[in-house]
Amino acid sequence: MRRSWSRRPPGILAGVGARAGIVVTGTEVLTGRVTDRNGPWLAEQLRIMGVDVAQIVVVGDRPADLQTSLAFLADTGVDLIVTSGGLGPTADDLTAEVVGAFQGRSLVLDAELEAQIAAIVSRLSAGRGWRMDPVATSAATGKQALVPAGATVLAPVGTAPGLVVAVTDGRTGPPVIVLPGPPRELQQMWPAALADQAVQAALADREELRQQTMRLWGTPESELAATLRQHEAALSGLEITTCLRDGGELEIVTRYGAAAQPAYDAFVAVIRDVHADTLFSADGRTVDEQVADLLTAQGLTIATAESCTSGLLAARLTEPPGASRYVLGGLVAYSNAAKQQLLGVPAGLIDELGAVSAEVAEAMATGARARLGADVGVGTTGVAGPGGGSIDKPVGLVYLCVVGDGTAIARRISLPGARADVRARSVAVTMHLIRELLGADARLSP
Ligand code: ATP
Ligand code: MG
Repeated sequence: MRRSWSRRPPGILAGVGARAGIVVTGTEVLTGRVTDRNGPWLAEQLRIMGVDVAQIVVVGDRPADLQTSLAFLADTGVDLIVTSGGLGPTADDLTAEVVGAFQGRSLVLDAELEAQIAAIVSRLSAGRGWRMDPVATSAATGKQALVPAGATVLAPVGTAPGLVVAVTDGRTGPPVIVLPGPPRELQQMWPAALADQAVQAALADREELRQQTMRLWGTPESELAATLRQHEAALSGLEITTCLRDGGELEIVTRYGAAAQPAYDAFVAVIRDVHADTLFSADGRTVDEQVADLLTAQGLTIATAESCTSGLLAARLTEPPGASRYVLGGLVAYSNAAKQQLLGVPAGLIDELGAVSAEVAEAMATGARARLGADVGVGTTGVAGPGGGSIDKPVGLVYLCVVGDGTAIARRISLPGARADVRARSVAVTMHLIRELLGADARLSP
């Protein structure tokens, strides 16, 4: 869930500073078969450079739709448009032609490029041991070497060249950077696209656009909204976006121009003051990064015993490279018998209180700690659903426990959502409990 308190940096508000639009092409992206990796990547690269991205438009492989989206973005007054995809040799790859026409340029055959692509294709085919049909190959190569007259050609990373196509003389409008769809090719070609003169000229007005993140855990969105409303006057020049993450974490991302740095510093001071109990990251570091750093810094080890989360916690703890320094292991103890045999949970405890109980969560944590010889043990047990719930123990009820040397933090939580949500949120909450047990709050960066 995203809410925006639109306080745009004043420069951008006033129409100063460079803005860009992105068109992601491909029916596979439009239909959700492929998740868009190019739009977000380009948006982040542009943001780092101080270019504000106005829109990302996704269109299928239809020339009319691509043409419409180019016209739409140009109409919003952006300084630059970037497209991804549709540069290959097949009939549905139409971007070069459509962008050329949009900028008033017809296609011409670039003979040098044609030879270059032919060499790449024959090298690739030879490498794969494929025999090539010379007629089909030359048609494909010829198509990819057709470029809008006067465009800058960006050397192919795969087989497709990229392009920078400026408007023809006498017309106005943003230049269009045309990049291939495969993310690796697009990313490698990006520096060459930026080096182009027309692109440099279009982005000459860019301003430094800063972005900072704070994270809260335990403050509802409505309370944060109230804080923001109360301090509205002091927050001028800041574009503040809040996002509710798994496990109830609130992520506050703020973007601003350099001139608004004092306003941002004041905003951090407000959050530190009003939400002191729940602000766990003033510098944007994630709970996962903090847990990894805390375990490493204190030279502590951790072991997990998971029932309802079945290894998801262990997987998350071992995601950072170097996790072997502190993760000793994890046990998935799903059945009652496994809880007894693997972790030494007393059978009587399960019979009396049920496997989903605070006592069993603690016995699992203690068991993992003892069996694996770790400094910190973690136990998770709950009803992930959709079946298996009862009046006493409804779906979404989860008990979590983290034990250390003479310390323990336990939580009973009731989570909404489907099975996958309950499992993912349980893991997110557990990460926060681990952070708390490790005494993170005292270490919050000043
Ligand atoms: P090709 O020569 O490979 O056809 P192309 O420039 O024509 O290159 P597309 O046909 O649009 O690119 O996409 C080729 C493949 O690249 C897609 O099938 C997909 O796997 C990947 N791809 C394209 N666009 C995206 C995107 N926005 N996000 C992630 N992957 C993408
Ligand atoms: Mg293609």
